[in-house]
This record gives sequence, C-alpha cells and structure tokens, in this order.
Amino acid sequence: MTSVTVRAPAKINLQLAVGPRRGDGYHDLVTVFHAISLFDDVTVAVTEGPGPDRVLVSGEGAESVPGGSENLALKAAAALAKAAGLVRAADRPIEITIRKRIPVAAGLAGGSADAAAALVACNELWNAGFSQEQLREVAAEVGSDVAFALLGGTAVGQGRGERLTPALASGEYHWVLAVADGQLSTPEVYATLDRLRAARDPGEPGSGPQPEPVLDNALMGALRSGEPAAVGRALSNDMQPAAISLFPALRKTLAVGRELGALGAIVAGSGPTCVFLAADADRAVDLVVSLSGAGVCRAVTRAAGPVPGASIIGSPAGAS
Ligand code: ATP
Repeated sequence: MTSVTVRAPAKINLQLAVGPRRGDGYHDLVTVFHAISLFDDVTVAVTEGPGPDRVLVSGEGAESVPGGSENLALKAAAALAKAAGLVRAADRPIEITIRKRIPVAAGLAGGSADAAAALVACNELWNAGFSQEQLREVAAEVGSDVAFALLGGTAVGQGRGERLTPALASGEYHWVLAVADGQLSTPEVYATLDRLRAARDPGEPGSGPQPEPVLDNALMGALRSGEPAAVGRALSNDMQPAAISLFPALRKTLAVGRELGALGAIVAGSGPTCVFLAADADRAVDLVVSLSGAGVCRAVTRAAGPVPGASIIGSPAGAS
C-alpha cells in the first residue's frame, strides 16, 4: 500500500469584515487569515479494491465529522481527480485517514484544512503534477477557506475568502484558544448576521445599506511592525455579534480573557471558539491556566502563528 501523510493548520481571522448579502446568497469578505499551530494530519493511501473510496476519522470531535462522500477531504480528492482528468482504476480506491486535533464546527476551518491536506496528498500520490497555483484553483471550488489552508502564513482574503494575497507580517504571535462546549453552523451565523443587520433602527449607527468591506490599515501596519499589543487592539470580527446572539456564553468567555490580561479577544470566524492574543509564550501559558480555572469553556489550548500551509510529513511509504 502506498500512502502520503499531510499536516494542515487551523486558521483564525485577525480581521473578518463581511459585506452585504449578494444575490447568490454569499457575502463579499475582506479578511486577514492567520494559520496557527493546531493541526490535523491526513493520510491518503491507495488500497486494493475493488470498492468505494473511504474516510476514517479519529480524534477531537470525530463523531460529528461525516464519513462518506460529504467529507470535505473526499470531496477535495474527487475535485482534483476531475480537474486533472485522471481516470482512476475502479480496483484502486483510496482510503483517507484523518486524525483530528482541530475542533469541528468551531470557526477554525478544520474541514477546509482536511480538504487542503487531501489535495496535497492526492497530487503526490497520483503524480498529478499540479502546481501550488493550480491546486489553489481546485481548492477554491471545494470551499472558501481551503485555498488559505494550502497557503498558510498570514494572508488577506477577498471575494468569499478564496482570492488570497500573502501579507507582510513580522514576528511570532502567541494565541490562546477557548474551545466552547458546543458548535455553530457557519450558514446559521451568516443568516443571524443578516437578520441583526436588517433589524437595526434607522438612525442607529451602522443602519442604512451595508457598506463594502475594507481592509483595516491599522491591523496591517501592526502586523508589519510585529507589535502584538497593536495587533491585539486591531482584531475585529463582523460575525461576532451574530455568534454571541446564538451562543450568549461567549460574551463572558471574552470578558474573562480580557480581564486576565489578553492583548485582544475575539470570536474565531463564525465561532464558537474564542481566541486571545498573549504578549509572549509565558503569558500564554499563564492565560491557559487562568482561563481553564475560570470554567468558562470546555477546553483551553495554546497555539502560535503564523505557520506554513498544508505540508507533506510522510512520503510514499512503498509496499507494505
Ligand atoms: P467553516 O469552515 O464552514 O467556516 P468551521 O470552521 O466552523 O466551518 P469545520 O470544522 O470546518 O468548522 O466544520 C464545518 C462542517 O463541515 C462540520 O459540521 C462537518 O459536518 C463538515 N465537515 C465535512 N468534512 C469535514 C472534515 N473533514 N472535518 C470537519 N468537518 C467536516
């Protein structure tokens, strides 16, 4: 059996600006993605058939990850095979083994990480010969955050998040993640955001037509100069009010993290994970201990960023 193992990172959004709902139901975004050191490992193996492709999932939240063709890793593999015009022999199905550490439906794009990992693994396994650029095009079809999981680092995302420009960022950032006891569905959070926006009274700040999203220059400047305190102050997420309205406990989690000295506190993507920026690695350890003791979330973990995108950690294993 020949196999390839790829490690892919979770993401957080340092800025998530959401424009008005478009005719096709999507929202234009301007976002600053940042890949952090919380990874899923995905092994793709060619097996003896005949039989269907398979997905096996273990680890954090495995029970809520779909095992069949709905799994994003399997969708990504199918999209690559189609884009590369590969005619796959029916007697050589693949088996995708996902070891999850990224909590599921937590706003950390774990499914997208698995999809990116599957693209890199299958490209290698099938000798498809796709460049990074070509893989990113396939990734954008699979999901909005998949292209960033390939790229990693810190990058500005536009459109639905799939149009990426690497950002100039210096320094290493120390994050603490408060993992909530529950999940949020991204479409439901968007729908709530639309409802909250529609319900604003005329005259209220932010009422009237929703403006197009714009990149936050203060955040970009802070990232260029590598100043954690300025990055912490500039963190922003338009989805946060909607996530909190669906999951009110998040308000307290954010407040406790701020009281405990975090430089910035924000809901990750569509939530419900809360993310805190610490001044350095030692402060991050302290924050993990204090937040765990405060009992405001299910689990607390530490991660550094930026880290690279989906990367091979185990090459073709040869015969077994
Ligand atoms: P999104 O990426 O939609 O913003 P998220 O980051 O909050 O969502 P994910 O962990 O990516 O959360 O999961 C979103 C949904 O995708 C899950 O509810 C799950 O049913 C589905 N899904 C499909 N494949 C996977 C996968 N390999 N890992 C995790 N979730 C998956």
